[in-house]
Amino acid sequence: VRGTLVTRTFNWAMGHRLQHHEGLCRFPHGHSYSAEVTLTGAVDNAPGPSSGMVIDFSALDEAIAGAVGHWDHAFMLQDSDPLVRHLRAFSDEQDAQRQPRPRLILTPWAPTAENIALEIAQRVSDRLAARGLLVVASVRVHEGPKSVAEWRAL
Ligand SMILES: [Zn+2]
Repeated sequence: VRGTLVTRTFNWAMGHRLQHHEGLCRFPHGHSYSAEVTLTGAVDNAPGPSSGMVIDFSALDEAIAGAVGHWDHAFMLQDSDPLVRHLRAFSDEQDAQRQPRPRLILTPWAPTAENIALEIAQRVSDRLAARGLLVVASVRVHEGPKSVAEWRAL
């Protein structure tokens, strides 16, 4: 594919566990995640504040933050995970004590880097839908420094 690609990185910290994993991933733990969201589109050279760009990086940043910014310092669990009810109980307890509720993100899928990459691609695409000429080409999710899962449109 010929074209211009632009990438913005989003970093966040999040807990999760894989309830059916046979190794250590079954235990609650967390990662410093990083997602590289890559868009493709035409460079717009019409006069104006974004002349010469595919998209202003700050606009891409806003789209990503709007889509998944609330994942930072959250705990992501599959909705069928028995741990959900314990965290909900803790959340209610915090609320009763007028403390902020923890961020709990429930998903219909196992919270792996692969599924997280697909979810980010869909959410950011939805945010950019009004700008029809921009396409999310790929999302690379780094789960710590050694593991990467990549979703690609092409
Ligand atoms: Zn993990």
